[in-house]
Amino acid sequence: MTLLDPVWTALLYLAAAVFFILALKGLNSPRTARQGNLLGAFGALLAVVTVFFSAKLDNVPWILGAIAVGTAVAAPVARRVQMTQMPQLVALFNGVGGGAAALVALLELGHAEESWVRLAVVFTLLVGAVSFAGSAITFAKLQELMTTRPIVFPGLPVLMAAVLIAALGAATAVVLTGSLALALILMVLGLAAGVLLVLPVGGADVPIVISLLNAFTGLAVAASGLVLGNVLLLVAGTLVGASGTILTRAMAAAMGRSVAGILFGAFRGGSTAGSTTASDRPVRSSSAEDVAVLLGYAQRVIIVPGYGLAVAQGQHTAAELAQALEARGIQVDFAIHPVAGRMPGHMNVLLAEANVPYESLKEMGEINSEFRTADVALVVGANDVVNPAAKTSSGSPIYGMPILEVADARQVVFLKRSMRPGFAGIENDLMFEPQTTLLFGDAKESLTKVLGAVKGL
Ligand code: NDP
Repeated sequence: MTLLDPVWTALLYLAAAVFFILALKGLNSPRTARQGNLLGAFGALLAVVTVFFSAKLDNVPWILGAIAVGTAVAAPVARRVQMTQMPQLVALFNGVGGGAAALVALLELGHAEESWVRLAVVFTLLVGAVSFAGSAITFAKLQELMTTRPIVFPGLPVLMAAVLIAALGAATAVVLTGSLALALILMVLGLAAGVLLVLPVGGADVPIVISLLNAFTGLAVAASGLVLGNVLLLVAGTLVGASGTILTRAMAAAMGRSVAGILFGAFRGGSTAGSTTASDRPVRSSSAEDVAVLLGYAQRVIIVPGYGLAVAQGQHTAAELAQALEARGIQVDFAIHPVAGRMPGHMNVLLAEANVPYESLKEMGEINSEFRTADVALVVGANDVVNPAAKTSSGSPIYGMPILEVADARQVVFLKRSMRPGFAGIENDLMFEPQTTLLFGDAKESLTKVLGAVKGL
């Protein structure tokens, strides 16, 4: 059925593209992000409806069935997902997008007569497959279905090089011959490259890789727009590719990494230093009452939130504790590391939810020189972002990542449940230092006890 003529179709596509651009603009600031999201969703809805009424569609019941199944799966998942599981969901959706673009390209190969269209087909196929497989491995790492540490083996660089050379050969052959069998081989090689690309990535680099794969999916979708002759796909894919690339570069710069270094991690062989097991070295642990005394008689306290605070949903209690300390005349700040938690901006969102005033949130560059004036650094469910191994241990997967300099504070208190390491899977020597105290337990429960004890001082 075709109800819309080409002029109307083009105008509606243009409107959808404008909505996508306004959505990106809205996502620039936390205040307008929700509105930006809605604009983007509306743009996508407009695009789907326009396609539906402008193209000559066969198999309409199948298409409607697929939309119904997709909606039935995605809507409840997106509604029910915890804030701490959001990065997995993003990885999953991103991978599905790349995979869909690859499948569309595969199906279009039969209609691709000209070489430049075949070139777009092989590009979509390869990049989409890399994005799908890479995102699947990222999902497994974030969901802790597999180790979060870098996975490397002796032949990895050679294997990666062989896969890439074979993919290049297969891609050339597909452009020249249009062979479906070779295209399938190319897709399998793309999947293998995606797996090999992400396996050696660990710790601090995972967030950057999520963003990079997102940019890949954008590029694959843009190329599929070329294949299908669909301007809106081209525009939407380019927007995702460009914004993903900008975010990747910004995150890599904040983390002291180079994008090429991460991309070619497989060639370097990744990093394997550190231990995944909980240490049995002695530590100093103390009670909530002792921690309350330490905090209650300090002049300056810096709270360092991390992933564990989000898991425990202790943000409101942390905010209350900060208020109780401030009521005693103590200066309290929250130190925000760019990759604390499991998604960019995670801690800002978490603490904003608890109405922590914006002025109390200090970015890493601003707060790092202030730790030396702090009496207590209270580390709540954070580990990798305060791990000095990032500065001292050149073989560590987090080596080179800037950290919050909590060791400069007079006393350091960790709130965590056990001696288990953080996401990067490496031990934190700071826990064994003489100025460090550990209060074991769920972050929310510990904060509640400390808050009660501070109020009773
Ligand atoms: P980490 O993962 O390093 O450490 C979290 C700590 O919280 C652990 O030591 C854990 O110890 C503790 N914890 C977990 N649950 C609880 C709980 N209920 N109560 C108290 N403590 C708890 O977190 P960080 O925020 O320091 O670092 C983030 C890491 O995640 C970095 O390696 C970063 O690269 C990576 N990452 C970041 C992303 C991002 O975009 N921000 C995305 C993907 C990965 P225990 O189990 O003993 O309680």
